[in-house]
Amino acid sequence: MERIYSSEVQKAKVGSSVELAGWASAIKLLGKIAFVRLRDREGDVQLVTSDKKLITSLRDLTHESVIQVKGKVRKSKLKVGGNEIELQKFEILSKADPNLPIDMSGKIPTDLSKRLNWRVLDLRDTKRTAIFKLRSAINYYIREYLQQNNFIEMQTPKLVGSGAEGGATLFSLDYYGKKAYLSQSQQLYKQMLLAAGLDKVYEIGPTFRAENSHTARHLAEFTHFDFEMAFIKDENDIMKLIEDLFIYTTTKLNTHNKKELQILKLNIELPKVPFPRVTYADALKMLAKEGIKLKVGEDIGTEDEKKLGELVEKKYKTKAYFITKFPYVIKPFYIMKDGKTFSRAFDFEYNGEELASGGQREHNYEKLTSQIKGKGLKLNDFEDYLNTFKFGIPAHGGFGLGIDRLVKNLLNLDNIREAVLFPRDPERLSP
Ligand code: ATP
Ligand code: MG
Repeated sequence: MERIYSSEVQKAKVGSSVELAGWASAIKLLGKIAFVRLRDREGDVQLVTSDKKLITSLRDLTHESVIQVKGKVRKSKLKVGGNEIELQKFEILSKADPNLPIDMSGKIPTDLSKRLNWRVLDLRDTKRTAIFKLRSAINYYIREYLQQNNFIEMQTPKLVGSGAEGGATLFSLDYYGKKAYLSQSQQLYKQMLLAAGLDKVYEIGPTFRAENSHTARHLAEFTHFDFEMAFIKDENDIMKLIEDLFIYTTTKLNTHNKKELQILKLNIELPKVPFPRVTYADALKMLAKEGIKLKVGEDIGTEDEKKLGELVEKKYKTKAYFITKFPYVIKPFYIMKDGKTFSRAFDFEYNGEELASGGQREHNYEKLTSQIKGKGLKLNDFEDYLNTFKFGIPAHGGFGLGIDRLVKNLLNLDNIREAVLFPRDPERLSP
C-alpha cells in the first residue's frame, strides 16, 4: 500500500484502507478509547482506536515520535471533524525523547532565538512549513517567468578575489596561501557574461555580507537573485521587467498556493501597474514636508524609508514603487552616471523596505576605469572584469534582489530570519 498524506484522508473514500506515516503530535489515552494526532508535511489527521491491544501498544508512544499506521477512513463523530482513521495497525518507527526542548503544542510561545536553536523541531509547525512551501513556489515562479522569457540561468563563483559592493562587508578567507573573499553579489560576473554575448542572464544563489547589523532585514548570508540584460535603452527597461515579474509571481501564488496562504491568513494584494516612479529628489521633498530633512547625497535610512513608504502609499495607493535617479555618491562604481550628481540607479521598494537595487551600468571602458579610481578602489583588483569592457560590450543593466527579503515582505513576516531555514547573522553560525 502506498503512503498517503493526512490532507488526502479528507478526500479518501469512507471505508477504504489507507497507510500514513508522520509525527505523533497529540496523544490521548482514555482507557477504552485512544486518540492520536498524526502530523505530516501536509497537515494532520486524527487516529482513533478502541482495540485493547492497540491501546496497550500506544502506552509506549511519546510526543513527536515517528509512527506508521494503517487504518480505515471513517467520518468523525464531531461536526467539524471531517474524516478520521480507525487504526488497524500501528508501529513506532523512531521514538522521541519525551523531554522536548520547545513547546510543540502551540500553546506556549517560544522566542525566535530559541526556536532557531531548535529549528528542526520548530519547522514541524504547519505555519512554518507553509512559509517554506511558499518560498519554494516563489523561486519556482521567478525561474518559470525568466525561462519563458529566454533568460539563461548562470552559476558564478562564490570564492572571489575582490568584492563589488565595498570592502567593509567582505568576509575574507585563506585561499591556498592567498587572500580570497566570499562573494558579495554576482555583479561582476553577470556583466562579464553580457560581454560574452549571453544577453539575458540570472542567478539565484548565496551571497555573503559581513554586515554587523542586528536588524530584522539583514543577514550575513542571503539568497541573491541577480539579473542582468543587454541591449537596453535605459534603466526603465529593467524596472518594467521587475514589475512584470512581481505581478507574475504574486498572481501565481494567489492562484496555486491558496492552502499555504490560508494557513498564514494571508491575502497578497496585487499592486497596480505601473508602479510609481519617485525620483530620489522628490522623495527628499516628500520627507522634508514631514520634517525629515536630508541633503542630496545622504542615504535614506531605515526609519525614513519606512516613512517614505507610508507617504507613497497614501499618495499612490500602493505598497510597490521605485525610487529612481539616486545620487552617484551613494551607489557603487559600476552604475552609470546621469549628469554630474545623479545616476541611473533605482531601488525597488515594497512594504516600506528595499527589495532590490538596480540600474543601468557604465559600459564605457574609460569612464568605468575612472569611476573605479574615483571610489578609491584599486584597478588591479578589477583587472579581469575591466578587460572585458575593452572588446565590445553592449549597453546593459540589471538588478539584485534579496529572495529572503522578498519572502519576508510578501508573507508579512516580522523578521527576515523567519524566511530562512538556517539563518546566519553576527550571533549565529549554527545550527
Ligand atoms: P540595504 O541598504 O537594505 O542594507 P543594500 O543596498 O546594501 O541593502 P544591495 O547591495 O543593493 O543591498 O543588495 C541587493 C538586495 O539584496 C537588497 O535590495 C536586499 O534585498 C538584499 N540584501 C542586501 N544585503 C542583505 C543582507 N545583509 N541580508 C539580506 N538581504 C540583503
Ligand atoms: Mg541597495
